[in-house]
Amino acid sequence: MDLTKELNCVVTQSLQVSPIMKIIRVMPQGWEFPSFESGQFVGLGLPPDAGRCEESTTEHAEPKADKLIKRAYSISSSSKDNVIEFYVTLVHSGNLTPRLFNLKIGDKIWMGKKAVGMFTLDEISSDTNIVLVATGTGVAPYMSMLRSNALMRDGKIIVIHGAANSWDLGYSSELRLLANMFKNFSYYPTITEPGNEPSGWAGDTRFIEEIWKSGLAKEKWGFAPSPDNTHVFLCGNPRMVTSMKDLLAVDGFKEHKRKEPGQIHAEEF
Ligand SMILES: Cc1cc2nc3c(=O)[nH]c(=O)nc-3n(C[C@H](O)[C@H](O)[C@H](O)COP(=O)(O)OP(=O)(O)OC[C@H]3O[C@@H](n4cnc5c(N)ncnc54)[C@H](O)[C@@H]3O)c2cc1C
Repeated sequence: MDLTKELNCVVTQSLQVSPIMKIIRVMPQGWEFPSFESGQFVGLGLPPDAGRCEESTTEHAEPKADKLIKRAYSISSSSKDNVIEFYVTLVHSGNLTPRLFNLKIGDKIWMGKKAVGMFTLDEISSDTNIVLVATGTGVAPYMSMLRSNALMRDGKIIVIHGAANSWDLGYSSELRLLANMFKNFSYYPTITEPGNEPSGWAGDTRFIEEIWKSGLAKEKWGFAPSPDNTHVFLCGNPRMVTSMKDLLAVDGFKEHKRKEPGQIHAEEF
């Protein structure tokens, strides 16, 4: 079966950010990606006979020969761009990511025709403060928010980004620049393996949970975040998401659900 006919986009950029992270940009060919809300995700897919990158290991499970391998990815580009950007971690034994890491500029890829998801700022009033917490590529949806209109909000915004090494803190230059330019925005990176840093690391080395408990938001804003004035977004490693939800519950924050509005918004990768 010729699955290449289903490939409806072209790769316009493939940037190696670190040994296991890439920024990939794709553009629809012959169709337009419909408007989306920053924070949403979309499917990407490749045929099983697409090549795997050199660094990959044996696949943990054989993909079906007659179907595209499809996975969900958060969009990191602005909701105003017609080229759609993704920030992807390599799962060495995974089905799709070793194939994504093998893509060259000009190669074809499948992208879903519509972005979906409720991990967005759209229903939150402009004067509410926002804490955006990420591990690894979990920062992707926040880049889309910040590159769209999040910084035009009246409330304050912090990005707390955790990774193993400083080179895994994708988008850090852009986030530092935004923090210098916008008074209502702070960026707080932390790394957990400072011993690997060739030139040392002067920043925080605690886990995100410890940083939250120590009162980072209060230190930055001059007041303690509470469910009345702040919404918290959690994205990335499911363990971080669960432990942060437990910590926030102690302060009275509740998970946001379609029928029961709350202040915790979570997306697990
Ligand atoms: C809403 C949403 C948004 C997402 N956004 C992003 C994003 O922006 N960036 C990003 O990088 N990822 C994102 N993901 C994750 C992404 O969808 C894929 O799950 C991820 O890229 C791995 O895909 P894969 O096909 O390479 O691995 P898969 O083949 O799907 O394998 C991964 C799974 O298999 C398990 N596994 C792997 N190897 C083995 C083994 N040897 N033995 C047993 N089990 C094994 C892993 O533990 C894992 O559960 C998102 C997920 C969701 C749900």
